[in-house]
Amino acid sequence: MIKCSKCGVLNPDDTTYCQNCQAELKRDPYNTICILALVLSIVGFIFNPFYLVSIAGLVLGIIGHINGGPSKNLAMAGWIVAICSAVVSFLIDIFCTFGLGIFC
Ligand SMILES: [Zn+2]
Repeated sequence: MIKCSKCGVLNPDDTTYCQNCQAELKRDPYNTICILALVLSIVGFIFNPFYLVSIAGLVLGIIGHINGGPSKNLAMAGWIVAICSAVVSFLIDIFCTFGLGIFC
């Protein structure tokens, strides 16, 4: 389903114009990247080996945010979560290094 950016009505995937207001429906080719960025960032927050998951979420989040259409807010949430998870992971590593860790 494609949500009309003008009136918000959901239209079938194979339609070019909104069935409610006839506005042209814009497909978002970066929709998948935006969703993936958010998912990776959340996964990275929970389980983040060597920051790899957060970095992947951050990169995809930025790509999605710059290029994305209606779903770029998802990408923005993705890179924000990615940065937070990287910072949290970094702080945990610092605490562990100085023997102050409660998680290690
Ligand atoms: Zn519409």
